[in-house]
Amino acid sequence: MNQVQPGQPLLQVENVSQIYGSGARQFVAIQKINLSIDEGLYVALLGPSGCGKSTLLRIITGLQQATEGKILYRGEPLRGVNPHATIVFQTFALFPWLTVQDNVEVALKAKGIPANLRTPRAIDALDRVGLDGFETAYPRELSGGMRQKVGFARAIVTEPELLCLDEPFSALDVLSAETLRGELMELWLEGKIPTKAILMVSHNIEEAVFMADHIVIMDKNPGRIVSRLNVDLPHPRARKSAEFQAIVDQVYAALAGQTQPEHVELGTPPGEPGFTRHLPHIAIIDLAALLEFLTSMLKGRADIFRLPDELGVNSDHLLRLTEAAELLGFATITKGDIALTPLGETFAEASILARKEIFATRIHRLPIVRWLLNLLAASEQHRIGYGVVKAALELEFPAQEAERQIDTLIDWGRYAEILAYDDDSEIIYREPVPQ
Ligand code: ADP
Repeated sequence: MNQVQPGQPLLQVENVSQIYGSGARQFVAIQKINLSIDEGLYVALLGPSGCGKSTLLRIITGLQQATEGKILYRGEPLRGVNPHATIVFQTFALFPWLTVQDNVEVALKAKGIPANLRTPRAIDALDRVGLDGFETAYPRELSGGMRQKVGFARAIVTEPELLCLDEPFSALDVLSAETLRGELMELWLEGKIPTKAILMVSHNIEEAVFMADHIVIMDKNPGRIVSRLNVDLPHPRARKSAEFQAIVDQVYAALAGQTQPEHVELGTPPGEPGFTRHLPHIAIIDLAALLEFLTSMLKGRADIFRLPDELGVNSDHLLRLTEAAELLGFATITKGDIALTPLGETFAEASILARKEIFATRIHRLPIVRWLLNLLAASEQHRIGYGVVKAALELEFPAQEAERQIDTLIDWGRYAEILAYDDDSEIIYREPVPQ
């Protein structure tokens, strides 16, 4: 076998595409992915649900053969399952009838390691993840965090060169997740495991910035890599530091990035050639309720057609809500599913003030909002009559819809604290007035 030197690629993904289904129902899950992982690197893979992260992980480990392209491991084409790679899944399936130690030994047995060597190696792996003394316990006796540690022990006992982690901390409570992250970093950074590279799928931006050397960002339709960021910070990383936050912000920006050109995604301002995208007529409180609901769902994803019942709203209203969530970059919609983006998750979990800030930033991108703000900037005292705006919008929309657009603009602008409206005088004005 070739000896790969530090800094040389351990794994190369070359032009890999995966197409599911056939004929008219063909679906490109990932398209022409190129990715190289050097020895010594911890790489995190981030992206919206459905962008093909799990598919890619299965292809990389050889559990699945790609429709096109190839995987090189240490420079050699991979055929079949990669014996040097192991995956830890989100919820690690332990055999309930086996003890902790036997659950770890199973992995060695599967690799054909003789019985007399299995026990010492299993005990050693359990020791390394801090489960010393729990060898004879059964999974039901362990907390979620401890069960996941057994999962890690089972993965590291085979001493994989490439450790793949598929959202390994997302099913755990906050405290257990944080503890386990710290323990994994210690094993990895201090060379207590012989692993040469780690590839982790995550939905958690801070987790990725905390742990990884490189962050690869994917987008979907079709699933592809859109950027790769370098996290050049020493360990242990201080989550509150300005440098850490700056990278978190960079990742957010890349993740909420649009998949289509802006003029298609957001429309054009009223009065310009193209089409003016209307704002879905919804109240922010309902949008927040939808996003909060989605955070409680597995992977922040739900079937749109079940949502009206679950949220107690009618389906027209629900569709307007999902459209707003997508327009603002809070969610993505594919094939009847709605899935939160990290930005949507952040909004749902933020304080009222932080929500207003996120919302204000997002609506400033919308051409119809920019158009109104420009109109106000050009008006005396940053004030303009409702009727003037309505007349302008009636050039693009039917009268009733024009009125709805202004009502929504005022409602959203008030929430974002960039607009005010005086009902009596029917005057819209900037608030606060920009310097
Ligand atoms: P992620 O892990 O990023 O959520 P997946 O790799 O699970 O993405 O899925 C990517 C896309 O491929 C999704 O739209 C999913 O529905 C589809 N998909 C995944 N596995 C299969 C399969 N076996 N057959 C058909 N479609 C699939």
